[in-house]
Amino acid sequence: MMEISSSNKDAEQRTFSNEQLLEAAKQAMEHAYVPYSNFRVGAALLADDGTLHLGCNVENAAYGPTNCAERTALFRAIADGKRPKTFQAIAVIGATDHPITPCGVCRQVLIELCAANMPVIMGNVAGQMKIMTVEQLLPGAFSSADLQKEGFV
Ligand SMILES: [Zn+2]
Repeated sequence: MMEISSSNKDAEQRTFSNEQLLEAAKQAMEHAYVPYSNFRVGAALLADDGTLHLGCNVENAAYGPTNCAERTALFRAIADGKRPKTFQAIAVIGATDHPITPCGVCRQVLIELCAANMPVIMGNVAGQMKIMTVEQLLPGAFSSADLQKEGFV
């Protein structure tokens, strides 16, 4: 069975509020490397020890290697020694007309590295905010639990 972290805290218990996480994501957004789309996205991932791991989108002339802000933050945190399923929340922000939502690839990575009930705080630079859980963003996701059932792991 997939272990669900108990480290997910309500927004009131966190060291960073939803708004503060979006503000941190907005700062990371400024670091985006987007010479082709000029579409900046920022992310801020809160680890269980209260540390923030920022991410921005990083584009590539070959397009395919482009990395989204959410995955940049998640991979950065893993590289910094944080373990999967231990994160409290992630905020993502862009200059969209509505709160920006993670792409399908990022939703799959969120399912892999975050607890199903972890909040994903989506915002835009106009100040709008929408919160959904990782599971709500990718219902019926293929996950490590599927591999375990078949005995591959
Ligand atoms: Zn993405």
